[in-house]
Amino acid sequence: MNLNLYNSLTREKETFEPINEGRVGMYVCGPTVYSDVHLGNCRTFVSFDVIYRYLLHLGYKVRYVRNITDVGHLLDDGEDRMSKGARLEQLEPMEVAQKYANGFHDMMRTFNTLNPSIEPRATGHILEQIEMVQQIIDNGYGYERNGSVYFDTLKFIEENEDIYGKLSGRVVDDLIAESRENLKKQDEKKHPADFAIWMKASPEHIMRWNSPWSEGFPGWHLECSAMSTKYLGKTFDIHGGGNDLKFPHHENEVAQNVGSCGHAPAKYWLHTNMLLMNGKKMSKSDGNTISPVELFTGDSPHVSKGYHPMVVRFFMLQTHYRSTLDLTDEALQAAEKGYRRLIEAYRTLQALESPANAAAGELDKEINDLIDLAYSEMNDDFNTPKALARLFEMVTRINGLKDGHLPADQVSGPTLALLKDTFQKFIFDIFGLKDDSAEGGENGKDMMGGLMNVILNIRQEARANKDWATSDLIRDSLKELGIQVKDGKEGASWTVDA
Ligand code: AMP
Ligand code: ZN
Repeated sequence: MNLNLYNSLTREKETFEPINEGRVGMYVCGPTVYSDVHLGNCRTFVSFDVIYRYLLHLGYKVRYVRNITDVGHLLDDGEDRMSKGARLEQLEPMEVAQKYANGFHDMMRTFNTLNPSIEPRATGHILEQIEMVQQIIDNGYGYERNGSVYFDTLKFIEENEDIYGKLSGRVVDDLIAESRENLKKQDEKKHPADFAIWMKASPEHIMRWNSPWSEGFPGWHLECSAMSTKYLGKTFDIHGGGNDLKFPHHENEVAQNVGSCGHAPAKYWLHTNMLLMNGKKMSKSDGNTISPVELFTGDSPHVSKGYHPMVVRFFMLQTHYRSTLDLTDEALQAAEKGYRRLIEAYRTLQALESPANAAAGELDKEINDLIDLAYSEMNDDFNTPKALARLFEMVTRINGLKDGHLPADQVSGPTLALLKDTFQKFIFDIFGLKDDSAEGGENGKDMMGGLMNVILNIRQEARANKDWATSDLIRDSLKELGIQVKDGKEGASWTVDA
């Protein structure tokens, strides 16, 4: 069975053929660590976690690189996101990066995502970025103005037909036609479509490095070009990210790679779609937002109760990664039921035994067909909602076998064993779900520990900000659940009422 995936670059489903047999190089744009990770980010990283898990399941040796952006990602007003975080919180930029990277990792553990193989940081790869800027200048696609270096987009377009705009679908003529008057007053760029690859730091800018052009910092798009090339080579298999990054981030990445080493970076581009809430874009300014922790604790007007992280993960799997995902309380309630039904069926299945006289009958064939179909759905661009639907068709069979509605002697021993194995592989290895019940043993404890870390970190932050109301609310809400929080010199600890 072939794996087919939708390539954003060609806008077609293509058969996946790795560049090096048996191996996959995959780069995914990671978070900018200047504030708490939000649920939209989590959706994207959970989607790529399932893709990573499925590639591993197929037997590929995968090198999964997911970066951490800790410099260069500017706000609309030109301030570096990290510097802004540092200024607001009176911390070193590196402290801000570390704090939110820790929070991000806690959250990724809470969602049971696997660690990437390499997690490079932009600030750890300044030399590689400077080298790439130099190559771009040497190849004639970069020009310096007052210590900053810009990518000459127009020249690139002229000399490399059909590359710029292909990924994002931007019409190049429109980009070119954009008037030079759109340049801001003191803009050093030759054309509005040009973008900075090295920026001279203003005197108040904290994050700065020496370079041949000025003391400054790299442009945001550059880090992904430099780090993907360093760890995966000039051409690698898969590049991923949210579809909000297609333009300008990914389009510019392609231009930089071609402009520096003559190669487009990735063979396949995969883009996840956005997370919505109640049909609208999640937005802090409109109050239409919920944090992962609020979703887990239920401390938000948008949900009627708290939902376990595995329920939220299951909810994410119910929608294809290329469709928008609409978070609503009703959908979460339905997801909770679905998740419990699946885990329950898994337990029932483990206890089922094949009768001595069992022989393959009609039901045996049905089950084998469903197993094949579940894999076909995953091979069709990682279609998790359809694969889940196949699992639920199996659940009906499992429950029928348990209560005697279906003839157990029609399912052969090997087929029952295969069904058990398939369930185990899909639920835990591929979908990355965990059994959240008390009987979950170590898994259950890990989850609880991870979740408590997340909650107590937030409370610690509230205390640091002298926000005693939030801190007390968290403590009292936990108390109601039978969890006692104690504040000590080493930070807070917690115990569960016996
Ligand atoms: P950022 O930290 O903003 O650089 O984003 C990290 C990753 O999360 C990127 O791949 C984004 O495309 C993705 N992302 C941001 N917002 C959303 C959203 N609302 N839904 C899904 N993915 C998102
Ligand atoms: Zn990136």
